[in-house]
Amino acid sequence: MNMAGFYDESISNGLGWRAVLFVSGCPHNCPGCQNKIAQDYNYGEKFDKQKIIDRICDNSILKGITISGGEPLCKENVGEVLDFIKEVKKVRPNFNVWCYSGYTIEELKNRNDNTTNEALNEIDVLVDGRFVQDKKDPTLKFRGSSNQRILDVHKCIQENKIVQIAI
Ligand code: SF4
Repeated sequence: MNMAGFYDESISNGLGWRAVLFVSGCPHNCPGCQNKIAQDYNYGEKFDKQKIIDRICDNSILKGITISGGEPLCKENVGEVLDFIKEVKKVRPNFNVWCYSGYTIEELKNRNDNTTNEALNEIDVLVDGRFVQDKKDPTLKFRGSSNQRILDVHKCIQENKIVQIAI
């Protein structure tokens, strides 16, 4: 997997101070994509898990990590993303994990794939759905278009229904 970028600290990619990893590669090709360059799986640099974990470890201001892209949960990236989240939790067990995906949670669950299901179990908040230009709304917090949802993943899975977080 390649990495399109990394922010050591951000408050605009989820609640609280967060590190943000942007993975490379996305199959969705949404019209109006803000990060078109990261749709290319070969864009950026080879993802060096340990290097990123070292940067996270040293930063006491952080409350969590956000994984964005690109598409973190496509079949090409999901395994390495899952491995990364697990490693992050070893060094920062209280970290809260947000993930941005162009897939809806229904699409991810219907994939019936163990790795994807395991990744969902490790994610606290999923901002789901493709970017839809006609539904673009700059007043929305933490999402680009109004079709996208900010989901409490654990409740969605436990209660088998869509549970959104009020932001
Ligand atoms: S899912 Fe996100 S990164 Fe992928 S094409 Fe759509 S807007 Fe761009």
